Amino acid sequence: MTNRYSRQILFPGIGKAGQKRLGNSSVVIIGCGGLGATIATSLVRAGVGRVRIIDRDIIRYHNLHRQVLYDEEDVGLRLPKAIAAERHLKRINSSVEVEGIATEVNHTSIEGLVSGANVILDGTDNFEIRLLMNDVSLKQNIPWIYGGAVASLGMTMTIIPHQTACFRCRFPSADPKAIFTSDTAGIIGPAPFVIGSLEAAEAMKILVGAEEVNRDLIFIDVWRGTFQRLRVNPRQDCPACQGRYEFLEKS
Ligand SMILES: [Zn+2]
Repeated sequence: MTNRYSRQILFPGIGKAGQKRLGNSSVVIIGCGGLGATIATSLVRAGVGRVRIIDRDIIRYHNLHRQVLYDEEDVGLRLPKAIAAERHLKRINSSVEVEGIATEVNHTSIEGLVSGANVILDGTDNFEIRLLMNDVSLKQNIPWIYGGAVASLGMTMTIIPHQTACFRCRFPSADPKAIFTSDTAGIIGPAPFVIGSLEAAEAMKILVGAEEVNRDLIFIDVWRGTFQRLRVNPRQDCPACQGRYEFLEKS
């Protein structure tokens, strides 16, 4: 048990103090497909104390090529992703408190679901839920990490409330590109693996209090092998940054 994290503790960015902080931390992962499964396995293996996973979908055969937590038996049992993820993750690291919740995330449920978390991670492929995550992050002062993957492409950005630009500063309204999902444009596993890994690393940095948190929008294309960064500045007219949580408070 004492050796479990020895190689991670050797890494100067973590150390003994960082490992202790990870163990005392709590994260919420919204969506547990290709991105969420990569994030969850990384953070549970890293020893984050409490990991809550929210996803209402059932596992299907066409998920298995990219969703690393699941297997053929899960498909046969028609298990919800959240439930199968909890089972597998508890076998990977029994010292982590893993909680899978198979429920819908919407403007009435999200506040309770993320309450008390130190970081919220995006594992969805849903633009509306991201706008809700952004609102609840700013309202409850919880950092969140945006991530998306489709085809061979991926994007990620870290939002620290009231310090960095927020998601709405960059995407003020519905993104036309959001209509492309893995259901229409297809997807290869390495895209969510890379973005999910970057999201997990961002969460670890935030949880240990590291300086190196990413403040840019990162674009990758795993097919072309490209990696680009774009600086995102806060917008003066961003409603969310001014405390107007239009998606969370819609009736
Ligand atoms: Zn903003």
